[in-house]
Amino acid sequence: MSALAIETRPVAVTSRPTLTADLAAVAANTRDIAAHAPGAALMAVVKADGFGHGAAEVAVTALAAGATRLGVTSVDEALALRAAGVGAPILSWLNPVDADYAAAVAAGTDLAVPSRDHLDAVVAAATTAGTAHVHLHLDTGLARDGAPLAEWARLCRAARLAEQRGLLRVDGVMGHLACADVPADPSNATGRTRFAWGVEVARATGLRPAHRHLAATAATLTDPRTHHTLVRVGAGLFGIDPSGTVRLRPALTLTAPVVSVRRVRAGTPVGYGHTWTVTAATHLGLLPLGYADGLPRSASGPDGRAEVLVRGRRRRVVGLISMDQAVVDLGDDAVSPGEVATVFGPGDDGEPTAADWAAWAGTIEHEIVTGIGGRVTRRTVGDEHLHAPVRRGAHRTAGPTGLRSVR
Ligand SMILES: *Cc1c(COP(=O)(O)O)cnc(C)c1O
Repeated sequence: MSALAIETRPVAVTSRPTLTADLAAVAANTRDIAAHAPGAALMAVVKADGFGHGAAEVAVTALAAGATRLGVTSVDEALALRAAGVGAPILSWLNPVDADYAAAVAAGTDLAVPSRDHLDAVVAAATTAGTAHVHLHLDTGLARDGAPLAEWARLCRAARLAEQRGLLRVDGVMGHLACADVPADPSNATGRTRFAWGVEVARATGLRPAHRHLAATAATLTDPRTHHTLVRVGAGLFGIDPSGTVRLRPALTLTAPVVSVRRVRAGTPVGYGHTWTVTAATHLGLLPLGYADGLPRSASGPDGRAEVLVRGRRRRVVGLISMDQAVVDLGDDAVSPGEVATVFGPGDDGEPTAADWAAWAGTIEHEIVTGIGGRVTRRTVGDEHLHAPVRRGAHRTAGPTGLRSVR
């Protein structure tokens, strides 16, 4: 039986819109990326349901392929992984001050701390839940998350005091780069310098952070100076290289059945607003996918360039993508209802990629793959290499996939 059978009941791909995650591609990407940072440990970032690929499935796959830690944003995401039986170290880095830190600590989840308020909340949780393992987060240049430089020394001192009280253990220091997809951007050097300074200040305060991490996918692939002891990789696992330097393998395929086919004559206007009119008699196919399912409406309309693959050929999306449906021009082909359209995939058979859709919509691949809606059926393939099942509600001990018990 398939290793992830519980999570992946077989579904008929043809019968409904289906998003298929290829875990073999995730495994191959994980190995490729690890080879680019041989001196650093690899944290697989599985936030946003593993970038839409299934957080637990991706976690188990990446751990089996060389990752040793996991990263998520919220405590809830970390607890969901624990409930699925994932025992590897998990870092959660984006939470409000009133998040359930006690539950996180009890579940052996590491917490990023970006401010004094967060530190106080984590320390308060630790008084009942036990020693909290934290990574202090320094803002190295996004003015987004992480402590501002001016507050860093104070944060380090407060964390050191909490360490001395036995409530906290500072396991890591983290930063993040704003422009790592453009290696020559001068802000990268600034970010590296700030990070090195942040680590020095932490050490001068008496902290001994074993994990020092600055790089996400782009920096991991382009700049060894950012690798330090650990790299945090999300996009790359899924075949997305923001730096455009390494060829990785897209892991997601979105398909949908053709619901109906109609013959229309020249002059027939199509869809809301009549933004497109049939120029020569043709067949129009209807797909049961729209912007509520993650097809960007901005890729359609009068200047829309969106296409899908039907019967081995690219077909243009015509008219505006609506909430639940999209219309494609099938030309002279008498495609039958029930035939499957590939909206995007790795591109092997000529289908568009998520990168194509991103270009058509004026966005990035990340937004396409994470934006697929909840009513699309999910399935995984390529998980035959996994030998330990992902279980709901049970913590697991060490196994061949790299899962280990909660410490
Ligand atoms: C999402 C995220 C990552 C992963 O970035 P990728 O470019 O997807 O590899 C790393 N660190 C932080 C803080 C993030 O939010």
